[in-house]
Amino acid sequence: MVVTPSGMPYDMLQPEDMVLVNMHDLSYEGNLKPSIETPMHARLLLGRREVNAVIHTHSTYALMMAAAHRPIPPICDDQVQILGGGIRVARYTLPGTDDMADAVFEAISDRMGALVANHGAVVMGRTLEEAFIAANVLEKAAQVFIGTQAVGGPVELSLEDIAYMNNFFLYKYGQR
Ligand SMILES: [Zn+2]
Repeated sequence: MVVTPSGMPYDMLQPEDMVLVNMHDLSYEGNLKPSIETPMHARLLLGRREVNAVIHTHSTYALMMAAAHRPIPPICDDQVQILGGGIRVARYTLPGTDDMADAVFEAISDRMGALVANHGAVVMGRTLEEAFIAANVLEKAAQVFIGTQAVGGPVELSLEDIAYMNNFFLYKYGQR
């Protein structure tokens, strides 16, 4: 797998800075060390066959929910289409550990995203483009959840509607 290097400013990264990592033993090529969250990326890519991209963020609203250990219920159409439903919180673990990889894999389960307690969010996609959209959709759903607390709280979508919309996104949305 190809992983961003550890501790380098993202706006300075060049394609040749990406680190090629063996998903099975986490050995890597070149002079740059891969992200400390490499074990988590490998676990998710190996554990979900349809997933080809994983994005990990510390975006503000997702982190608010993660810091509060509050899941995001299924409240936005695009959230349930792209992420598959409500977003769980992975139990607290130290960054970069196999324990975090296990906790996130368990929390994400059949979804395309999870919150990571006191840390941030992880999203996945069939392509890097889908994972990028998922990152934005999760952040927005967290913001909507927090914002709707001021007007009585959000109304959750039904399981039936969630299943319909997620199925539509996976198999019928787009030009192909
Ligand atoms: Zn992180």
